[in-house]
Amino acid sequence: MEEKKIPYKIYLEEDEMPKSWYNLRADMINKPAPLLNPATKQPMTAEDLAPVFCDELIQQELDDTTPFIPIPEEIRDFYKMYRPSPLVRAYCLEKKLQTPAKIYYKFEGNNTSGSHKLNSAIAQAYYAKKQGLKGVTTETGAGQWGTALSMACSYFDLDCKVYMVKVSYEQKPFRREVMRTYGASVVPSPSETTDIGKKILADHPGTTGSLGCAISEAVEVATKNPGYRYVLGSVLNQVMLHQSVIGLETKTALDKYGIKPDIIIGCAGGGSNLGGLIAPFMGEKIKGKADYRIIAVEPASCPSFTRGTYAYDFCDTGMICPLAKMYTLGSGFIPSANHAGGLRFHGMSSTLSQLYDDKLMEAVSVEQTEVFEAAERFARVEGILPAPESSHAIKVAIDEALKCKETGEEKTIVFGLTGTGYFDMFAYEKFNDGKMSDEIPTDEEIAASIATLPQI
Ligand SMILES: *Cc1c(COP(=O)(O)O)cnc(C)c1O
Repeated sequence: MEEKKIPYKIYLEEDEMPKSWYNLRADMINKPAPLLNPATKQPMTAEDLAPVFCDELIQQELDDTTPFIPIPEEIRDFYKMYRPSPLVRAYCLEKKLQTPAKIYYKFEGNNTSGSHKLNSAIAQAYYAKKQGLKGVTTETGAGQWGTALSMACSYFDLDCKVYMVKVSYEQKPFRREVMRTYGASVVPSPSETTDIGKKILADHPGTTGSLGCAISEAVEVATKNPGYRYVLGSVLNQVMLHQSVIGLETKTALDKYGIKPDIIIGCAGGGSNLGGLIAPFMGEKIKGKADYRIIAVEPASCPSFTRGTYAYDFCDTGMICPLAKMYTLGSGFIPSANHAGGLRFHGMSSTLSQLYDDKLMEAVSVEQTEVFEAAERFARVEGILPAPESSHAIKVAIDEALKCKETGEEKTIVFGLTGTGYFDMFAYEKFNDGKMSDEIPTDEEIAASIATLPQI
């Protein structure tokens, strides 16, 4: 039988795009642990969550049983502007590496926000609009999430208030201006606009802020202003649900050509792109229909899976958000400066944490200099300038392909290329100047942070 020639880019037709998101939790045997109310330590109910989150998103967050949730037509129409995203056969990289491995990547950087985050931002904005809200608040660190959310809010005429970590606000003026161009108001955090911000500024004059502090400000503004709710771009179950479009499209494209991956790789910050990419494959694995090696890649400076503890913890430094059971380094853990801003969260999606604890997936940590070496290698042959976050997955995909070169195995490797790195040129500059360093926390530092976990 003649093998079908696989094109460089496998595009799907519009009508091949998924019409429902896939909720992997419905097929998990051990369900992820529920969010707990920080005051009562009891599972959060929809009523508990209602002042903070949009109603329909709360339903999605708490739904462990419905396998397929229809994607509303308005969201599918928006997706059509930049989806289906291509699944690329990395022929040029394979040739350069002289590997018998077959490498594919799903590219999510083909939209102005430059990352996969728009897949969930548009869904969250849609449900906020449907509920009749005036606007949403959020935090952003490196700025990808804030950018995606401002695009989504402008599409639905919603007000968007972004609390941007002060140091990023000052160092990443271009992302800030993209957000403002889409009509969002961007406030450097900590700020004088909230009680918590004023308190932090009084206690720590001159602080350059943190993600945890920006979350606290955004939540305060959402709960104090009628018609506003808070939205989050990663970690939560609802976000992973929306990101399942990545995996569903990938599976459809592979199935079209009868390709079965051996290894699936993704970078992991809060776990949403990886969770979305692997969802349909993990579903088959759980049901015993197929087997895949699934690898999460995290930075050595923030190693939640590989060096963290599986326990209930706060999602924010301000300790106001619900408690989630996850692999965590402790909510007070401050990762050292690292250029993969989107991978600096101290914890991990509770769904992925359960799958990892059940040994259904693996995790590795990599250092940033080797990540940028991989990014450069990839950019030079595949043409795309990858985001530092995405380059964590590239690094491990290249490693696996080089192992195949030694053994002669023709493995099929699929990885998620979550975004482009055009706004990360300071990081590339550091790498090009040979000034990039690898900061890895000591066992003592991690133990000290873990010692402050809440007692449940
Ligand atoms: C935010 C981000 C990530 C990490 O977030 P996850 O929720 O773990 O997917 C990865 N890559 C890019 C480009 C990002 O912007």
